[in-house]
Amino acid sequence: MARKGILIDINRCTGCYNCFLACRDEHFGNDYLPFSAAQPLNGQFWMRINEIERGKFPRPKVAYIPNPCMHCKAAPCIAAAKDEAVYKRPDGVVVIDPVKSKGQKEIVNACPYRAIHWNDEMQIPQKCTMCVHRLDEGEREPRCVESCPSGAMYFGDLDDPSSEIATVIKAASNAGNSSKVEAFHPEYGTDPSVLYIGIPKRFVAGEVVLSDNSGECAHSVKITLEGNGEKRVILSDSYGDFEFEGLEKNTDYKITVEKDGYATYKTQIFTKTDLNLGEVVLSSLK
Ligand code: SF4
Ligand code: SF4
Repeated sequence: MARKGILIDINRCTGCYNCFLACRDEHFGNDYLPFSAAQPLNGQFWMRINEIERGKFPRPKVAYIPNPCMHCKAAPCIAAAKDEAVYKRPDGVVVIDPVKSKGQKEIVNACPYRAIHWNDEMQIPQKCTMCVHRLDEGEREPRCVESCPSGAMYFGDLDDPSSEIATVIKAASNAGNSSKVEAFHPEYGTDPSVLYIGIPKRFVAGEVVLSDNSGECAHSVKITLEGNGEKRVILSDSYGDFEFEGLEKNTDYKITVEKDGYATYKTQIFTKTDLNLGEVVLSSLK
């Protein structure tokens, strides 16, 4: 059985909103019955882009998480609908019937991802259809995926190990923690068919400075992070900066900074928030 899905690589998403605009262009004013009625001008975000601000000055970061309907395997919207007004197709796509769903505003509130929007004029709930009107006509992918200039989105059959999406998921899963493939809000327990690489977690950053060489960048200094069952070793860059990404939240880690001829610096961190250690000064042993 096929299971159509989308994989979104957050590390590649620049927040350009092309996917949002492509969705608007495809659906605003256009009926694709029996799958969807036209998207109205205002108030509907079938592809919402969540902006996540991280860290603080001087190390702020922004991540973008495109958030369409997740086409959940265990979809609460299906359970909340009367008269089978929301159903799952054999390819796994969840569709709201624009005729049967008339007046069923409770369907909107059933979605934990806030992916359903109420059309006041038509009195119907509406959402992303994964562009099934296109797929059924033989198009390769939904408009949002086609529109992404960064190659941040993959579409295909999650159940087919030879599909591109399954291959990318397998490669990412073998590549370590910061490439982990996961659901957005797995705690909702809905088994989504939209998956992500690089959902922001925590990062810790800093800058290595040598006590006898103030103002100069201490490049190529070895920095080791240990904790949560993993060990990572990196070198400071040519500006003396370093960063560990994709750390678990609310977890203890140990950081060691070492260079021949200097006292080793050790510190313990707890990832309640993103952290900037600032200047890490290594004292000369001479
Ligand atoms: S994301 Fe929301 S609307 Fe989409 S299938 Fe899941 S529960 Fe239904
Ligand atoms: S089109 Fe691609 S890069 Fe732009 S916001 Fe959407 S997913 Fe991100």
